[in-house]
Amino acid sequence: MNRSISFNILSSIVLALLIASCNSTGKSKVNTPHENPFEEQVDSILALMTIDEKLGQLNLPSSGDITTGSSKSSNVAKKIEEGKVGGLFNIKGVDKIEEVQRIAVEKSRLGIPLIFGMDVIHGYKTTFPIPLGLSTSWNMELIKESARMAAQEASADGINWTFSPMVDISRDPRWGRVSEGNGEDPYLASEIAKAMVYGYQDEDLTANNTLMSCVKHFALYGAPEAGRDYNTVDMSRLRMYNEYFPPYKAAVDAGVGSVMSSFNEVDGIPATGNKWLLTDVLREEWGFNGFLVTDYTGIEEMQYHGVGNFQEVSAQALKAGTDMDMVSEGFLTTLKKSLEDGLVSMNDIDTAVKRILTAKYKLGLFDDPYKYCDKNRAKTEVFTSEHRDFARKVATESMVLLKNDNQLLPLKKSGTIALIGPLAHTAVNMAGTWSVATDQDKSISVLDGLKSEVGDKVNILYAKGSNVDYDLELEKRTTMFGKTIPRDGRSDQQLLDEALAIAKRSDVIVATIGESSEFSGESSSRTDIGIPQVQKDLLDALLKTGKPVVLVLFAGRPLTLVKEHETVPAILNVWFPGSEAGLAISDVLFGDANPSGKLTMTFPRHVGQVPMHYNHKNTGRPLGNSEGRFEKFKTNYLDIRNEPLYHFGYGLSYTRFAYSDIKLSSNEMTTSTSIKASVVLSNEGDYDGYEIVQLYIRDKVGSITRPVKELKGFQKVFLKKGERKDVSFTITIDDLKFYNSEKQYIAELGAFEIAIAPSSDFKFKHSFTLHD
Ligand code: BGC
Repeated sequence: MNRSISFNILSSIVLALLIASCNSTGKSKVNTPHENPFEEQVDSILALMTIDEKLGQLNLPSSGDITTGSSKSSNVAKKIEEGKVGGLFNIKGVDKIEEVQRIAVEKSRLGIPLIFGMDVIHGYKTTFPIPLGLSTSWNMELIKESARMAAQEASADGINWTFSPMVDISRDPRWGRVSEGNGEDPYLASEIAKAMVYGYQDEDLTANNTLMSCVKHFALYGAPEAGRDYNTVDMSRLRMYNEYFPPYKAAVDAGVGSVMSSFNEVDGIPATGNKWLLTDVLREEWGFNGFLVTDYTGIEEMQYHGVGNFQEVSAQALKAGTDMDMVSEGFLTTLKKSLEDGLVSMNDIDTAVKRILTAKYKLGLFDDPYKYCDKNRAKTEVFTSEHRDFARKVATESMVLLKNDNQLLPLKKSGTIALIGPLAHTAVNMAGTWSVATDQDKSISVLDGLKSEVGDKVNILYAKGSNVDYDLELEKRTTMFGKTIPRDGRSDQQLLDEALAIAKRSDVIVATIGESSEFSGESSSRTDIGIPQVQKDLLDALLKTGKPVVLVLFAGRPLTLVKEHETVPAILNVWFPGSEAGLAISDVLFGDANPSGKLTMTFPRHVGQVPMHYNHKNTGRPLGNSEGRFEKFKTNYLDIRNEPLYHFGYGLSYTRFAYSDIKLSSNEMTTSTSIKASVVLSNEGDYDGYEIVQLYIRDKVGSITRPVKELKGFQKVFLKKGERKDVSFTITIDDLKFYNSEKQYIAELGAFEIAIAPSSDFKFKHSFTLHD
């Protein structure tokens, strides 16, 4: 058939269907389990498609030479024209995206628009703290708004789909990707998952300023053996359901439009081809009705896992419930043969195609394929002063004050400060890992931030003090992707001498040290999770000057800080604060903002303690003394106490909060009633501030063993100095439920302990009973 004739026919069909879709449905609903409002339209397009065009929709190549060269002459453009591409990712910019979309819409036989994805992880051009830092704000409104702004900016730049949120629970800080997650707690991580999905997708996915969200990495990616990225995961189903699955499910319940499978195996089968996981759990138990994409080359990698050749694993992935193949091209190149060989059916292929087409309908792409290509928006809606002010506030709320002896902080806005350390003057390291869209050099370094905020009152002296690491090769690996910190040509001693010289002339030293940006993130696992030795040596030398030292700690994971905790009077953990880093750090150092962040991952004393988490089980031989004294034949170590250095939920403030004893409305609860637990919270210090009040419950006796404590609620409360407030939580049966060994989600009658506390480090004193 002549192409132009066919194109015309098909465009009119698509247009007619589109009008039908708009008339019948109005705004799209993202997650309406078991019903697809676009079914009719999708079926009509499907009826027109050849097998090659169907397989093309399932194909998600990386943008390859499109990003560097001219779109039109690229290899990917040729494939798009041939109908062999369903979407592209990590290509940005309205001009480029529009040009590529035009190839799909005007040159391919059916004119089906492409979906454009990107890793918009913690902001777009305006960057917010790394996700682990966002989580330590415990502020769901702020987190949701950060996702909303990221969606606004990314969609203004042509993107309509984000590979976020990552909600993999992790208890092992050796794993570099803990920086991209929300920590160790399923309840908190579920709340964050919902906030992120709502933020990205908002009320209306067809609006041109929202993104379809893709929750990842399904499932259990955060539990690799030995914390080594991509490594084997082996876990009981009970643990999956009770501890690792909840955040993914929360994202599905919030209406997430897509899910990404993980690289690891689950129950001995790579997640990418695991039918139990991708179909039985995700779709049948949880009612997910969006589409499922693999992670980067996930299908190809199944061969190296050792479960079949390329054709077999591609067929397995499809049959398991995968809809879109990221980069492997296993679907594109082998499924036709698998159809002939009987490994897959046309129905399997059609099901996947329909889900991709439905997603495109949900985004309104059939309505207007160029709706995200408004050239004016990119000029006015990206990296705006409003967004940057917001990012600054978010960054201050994410910082965790770990130590503050004798109220060394906040600093006075006078005198001389020696700002020392390899992280002090590096704008490009401020956004942290997975900040692919931002202009790294536009972030504000600590030196520039302090100068702009207090430079007229405070004399700021600066010296680098040391390189990032003694080992040049390690330094290169941890400052890659444009996050270079130029290696100083001087010797270690010369760098140190310069630092000591300015330290001696100062009233206070601010040591800006820790991990550089790419010490954490993908493929950035560590066995030593301390501050790099050269920086430790620098810190020691600075402490020896006798001047007060504030440690501004950069980190993408919990670090082991026993020595620093013993020797440094003030430690402010700033994670990677994002584009406004220097300003936000200045706000907190000088008391314009009062730190309120609390840890969402346990900080161990020693790497040998990991994996480590507050909500562990008791064992049959728990340690009986609270001093951490060694006891033979108990659950402990010969050489180190069990407790972490900093507990989950811990974080200081410049002010002092006092908690009254907990009051329960009743000590008896039934399956149909609730009880109220409350405390009076008082701000007894000298500053206004936020406190994160945490509710914990322990199920004393269960049909399966239960954690020693579990977070079941929290509130971030603002109190002016001298102010008091009642803070209360309502406990219902839902707060007491868990999956039993029959996989039933139930609450069991009996005794429960309860506490309202400033962190997970407390002993229960109160209890209640659940009756029929
Ligand atoms: C990562 C994903 C990411 C994808 C696309 C993979 O290597 O594991 O998290 O979304 O690349 O960039």
